[in-house]
Amino acid sequence: MKKRTLLMIPGPIEFEPAVLSAMGEPTTSHVAPGFIDAFGQALEQLHRVFGSPSGQPLVLAGSGTLAMDCAGANLVEPGDKALVINTGYFSERFAAILERYGAQVTLVNAPPGDRPGLEQIKSALESDSYKLMTITHVDTSTGVLVDVQQVAALGKQYGVLVIVDGVCSVAGEELPMDAWGVDLALTASQKAIGVPPGLALLMIGPHAMQKFHDRTTPVLNYYADWTNWLPIMQAYEARKPGYFGTPPVNLIVALNVSLGQILAEGMARRIARHITISRACKAGMTALGLGQVPLKPEFAAHTLTAPRYPQGVNGADFLAGVLKAGVTLAGGLHPAIRPEYFRIGHMGAANLSDILVTISAIETALAGCGYKFSPNVGTDAARTVGKSSN
Ligand code: PMP
Repeated sequence: MKKRTLLMIPGPIEFEPAVLSAMGEPTTSHVAPGFIDAFGQALEQLHRVFGSPSGQPLVLAGSGTLAMDCAGANLVEPGDKALVINTGYFSERFAAILERYGAQVTLVNAPPGDRPGLEQIKSALESDSYKLMTITHVDTSTGVLVDVQQVAALGKQYGVLVIVDGVCSVAGEELPMDAWGVDLALTASQKAIGVPPGLALLMIGPHAMQKFHDRTTPVLNYYADWTNWLPIMQAYEARKPGYFGTPPVNLIVALNVSLGQILAEGMARRIARHITISRACKAGMTALGLGQVPLKPEFAAHTLTAPRYPQGVNGADFLAGVLKAGVTLAGGLHPAIRPEYFRIGHMGAANLSDILVTISAIETALAGCGYKFSPNVGTDAARTVGKSSN
């Protein structure tokens, strides 16, 4: 029997069989009519998944970091001021990218597990004149969820471009871009979008596009320059061939399949499912006596859970025990608290059974580490919460 484990990290995730088999179809020319149609459909479907009829979708070969780099390269001109709402490791990565393109970056900070308050963000916006603001919707290093709707509304009041890193949120958390006044949102294929790693996805709203057209200096990144890619995306959406760099044909065919599945489930139902399994997972951890990195339940993400190790449990031993029990989990990532917690991803195709199998493996590993708890208390709590929310 094939040796495999259940992959419950915050990306890459378990992928749907139809998506994987689409990846394995024979590769065609990037200008073959069938591929042009699949790419065109994928671009159309992206408008619906991002909640952005008014945006311009952009699909590039690369990871989420390329999507961030692409946003920074095209929207920053040297000397621009940028505000970064800092909820962890990935927010700080965005700050570093913006600085690389010459931005003067101000961070609005919060301790790990916390998030900057609206008053704090407001006074930062008042203190200077910013061109743009970045929000990490879910910082995967802490599991902290930002209230994008409220923060974006504040940003709009002060006339800044609102850019959302949705790598750990798009198609898993609610993010109707146009309705919430988000000017650019970006993600990557390997998380709630449900496609193996390799695609950077952006949705560029009209204000962001205008700022790009208003540039007076060249984009300092050749590959990511929208000047090269916009005609290509527009061509495919109009079902015409185009070429700037060879697109990752198989990944894009798989993307079209996955987006079709996402929209067939329906965005509202999909988000509700993520909330249900997240509640079940978090209830299981609480019943086992484990705390979590997000300081308050209302700002814990629904795409992952970040439990703290109980006293006396060693992270490396615990994760090895979970793996032995058949589930792959991720360790901590935020440098300030890395050894203190682990991460469970539950997005995309994940369901309540996956959560129960995962918690059962966690119980086995905790028991192996000498931690005491009532048998099955975590799985029982998760089952109860998961079923009652259905
Ligand atoms: N932003 C967030 C919120 C992420 O979770 C990640 C990946 N974990 C990234 C950016 C970077 O994406 P990638 O690893 O695909 O480059």
